[in-house]
Amino acid sequence: MKITSLFNNKDKTVFSFEVFPPKKDSPIESVYERLEEICALSPDFVSVTYGAGGTGGHSRTCEIASRIKNELGVESVAHLTCVNSTRAAIDSTLEDFKAHNIENILALRGDRIEGVEPQKDFKYASELCEYIRGRGDFDLGGACYPEVHGEAEDEVADILNLRKKVDAGATHLISQLFFDNSVFYAFLQRARIAGIDVPIEAGIMPVTNKKQIERMVSMCGASLPPKFSKIMQRYEHKPEALRDAGIAYAVEQIVDLIANGVDGIHLYTMNNPYVARKISEAVRSLL
Ligand code: FAD
Repeated sequence: MKITSLFNNKDKTVFSFEVFPPKKDSPIESVYERLEEICALSPDFVSVTYGAGGTGGHSRTCEIASRIKNELGVESVAHLTCVNSTRAAIDSTLEDFKAHNIENILALRGDRIEGVEPQKDFKYASELCEYIRGRGDFDLGGACYPEVHGEAEDEVADILNLRKKVDAGATHLISQLFFDNSVFYAFLQRARIAGIDVPIEAGIMPVTNKKQIERMVSMCGASLPPKFSKIMQRYEHKPEALRDAGIAYAVEQIVDLIANGVDGIHLYTMNNPYVARKISEAVRSLL
């Protein structure tokens, strides 16, 4: 099933999850149990990251995405990055995706690796979208940044670049995580003014531990509202309380987003079935 078709039902908010493959030195089976628990929550789809945080190359993404779709019965989206890939490597990955019946790709530029010269075949995600379009019947998604991508000249340039990605074939977008819904609403307005009319899912990451969130925030530059920082300060040495407060904060964000008519919620599960379950149970009837 193509992900785009999920957004046709205007009475339902799409609810999806993100998972990541295990690190290169861990056996792939180490995530199977968690995947089963996460898929048992019946999200509309599950996306699988590609090479992020040392999780190996495309074969693991393909294997996990295939397991989710073909064995656990949930539609999957395989992430694919291009900045460190040649056309030939992308071709071989696309063939693998086809062989595993994977129809949906989140087309990304990826981050440059320090000390590694990027390949020259693709500079931007829009170029990857265009390339994949000519290489098979895939449904393409793209990433977007409510707080502006770190390398963009400014927010106007970033939105105009996002428009290029949509024009190149991205049929839906998934946002970077954010903790302040007003930032997302302002971004949505900029996107719609720029003529970006595809569905945009809001990326929500529940805080489950302080270290993890500090790492994510330094990587993606999400701003922290005072209400959120208070939670971090108060419960930083009480892991269970921090987890519960993080879940409550994410649920509050989601309730507000759904009430404001968001196209979809994409939950960064961090492969944590407990957190995914708690949030799913809290918002299921609102979707
Ligand atoms: P692009 O859309 O190419 O944008 C990158 C920068 O270039 C932006 O500043 C943009 O404004 C600018 N730009 C774009 N087009 C042009 C143009 N034509 N001319 C001039 N400037 C332009 N990383 C991973 O490694 N693996 C993953 O699995 C992964 N999953 C992600 C999932 C989501 C939902 C998100 C939000 C991010 C994910 N990332 C992942 C991180 C992502 O790879 C980085 O944020 C990367 O730096 C940008 O990727 P992009 O696809 O958004 O790039």
